Amino acid sequence: MIKNKKIPELLVPANNLNILKYAVSYGADAVYVGGKEFNLRSIRGNFTLPELEEGVEYAHKNSVKIYFTLNSIVYEKELPRLKRYVKKLRDINIDAIIVSDPGVLQLIKELIPEMKIHISTQSNINNHLAVNFMGKLGARRVNLAREISFYDLKNIMEKTNIEIEIFVHGALCISYSGRCMLSKYMTGREANKGECTHSCRWKYYLMEEERTNLFFPVEQDKKGTYIYNSRDLCLLEKLKLLVDTRVDALKIEGRMKTENYVSLTTWVYRRALDYIKNDKFTADEVSYLTGEIDKCTHRNFTRGFMFLKDKSELENNENVGYITKYRFIGVYHDFSSAHNGPIINVKNQFRAGEVVDILQPHKDPKKFVIRKIILVPEGKEVEYANPNDRVILCGLCKVNPFSIFRIKSIKK
Ligand code: SF4
Repeated sequence: MIKNKKIPELLVPANNLNILKYAVSYGADAVYVGGKEFNLRSIRGNFTLPELEEGVEYAHKNSVKIYFTLNSIVYEKELPRLKRYVKKLRDINIDAIIVSDPGVLQLIKELIPEMKIHISTQSNINNHLAVNFMGKLGARRVNLAREISFYDLKNIMEKTNIEIEIFVHGALCISYSGRCMLSKYMTGREANKGECTHSCRWKYYLMEEERTNLFFPVEQDKKGTYIYNSRDLCLLEKLKLLVDTRVDALKIEGRMKTENYVSLTTWVYRRALDYIKNDKFTADEVSYLTGEIDKCTHRNFTRGFMFLKDKSELENNENVGYITKYRFIGVYHDFSSAHNGPIINVKNQFRAGEVVDILQPHKDPKKFVIRKIILVPEGKEVEYANPNDRVILCGLCKVNPFSIFRIKSIKK
């Protein structure tokens, strides 16, 4: 291990208590979560205050921090409700609150003076003057706009003492972060209030104003046209360069994502940071981890604005649909000693004879042929397992709690 090498915090999303536990077991240093109000992912999931309390207790027992998002825009009429909500947070031992609105920052300072404040990417901070200004207002950390270059990042790191956090993985907006009205315009659901319907990722047709029943396809490839669609960010390959800037935290996007996505992205970036810590992040490791991250559903990857050579890469319509190379078939429930195999909760259909790829916390993934499936509690052998079944994969092996089961998709 190289002495004095600073390894940034790995910050991971969770949409509910269950996913928080996966994030913790797969190696997150901190998890960011939202409540039922004033956060930017408000369509489904999120934590009630008792769930938040339970999540904080669970995370702290495992030496993991919890950051709570209060980063939606807030209108005048919502301030009394916000005030009541912030007062309720006083008794929960969260490690920081993520805000984008200076008024919310001010309110938290008044009501919970000891609370650490992190500035959301939604605030669009692009330079060290803005970072330092946020510091003067009382912010402990700033998450920079995703639109900055690597040159900007290095300069900011040299010119500020405020903690800096950047996104390294996940979906990108086609608009400048936090300045998008597309979803509100098309559906009435406002992105800046956490209700984004991801309208930029829909498929669009051309319509002539007098022929409203005719929709003309604007074809780009066999999957159609995604005129606003961006690629997904993946900075895995550039991680060593980012670590060398002494950035404080690396954030994974995805508070709407499944336990499969959160576990795999956390596993990959944890492993990459461990390699960097031990000075073993060679081209072979990058290639191995790139292969692993490819197993979760994603759109074509981009190195984002930070390492972009040609900006058209972000909008390139070539194969911009979701790529699913592996089906997420289930999660670990228990172990059956009688049948010497894991009992799993099934998420997607699979059958005996297929090869399962098992991801486990802090271990290399393993592959096994599924020889025999037994339905629980009926105890009968079945050829297929279906969503919501609970089944035993007989004779497989002992695997750890929080294991994730995937099967390679057949190419069509
Ligand atoms: S519609 Fe697309 S670009 Fe706009 S906020 Fe939602 S995800 Fe971002």
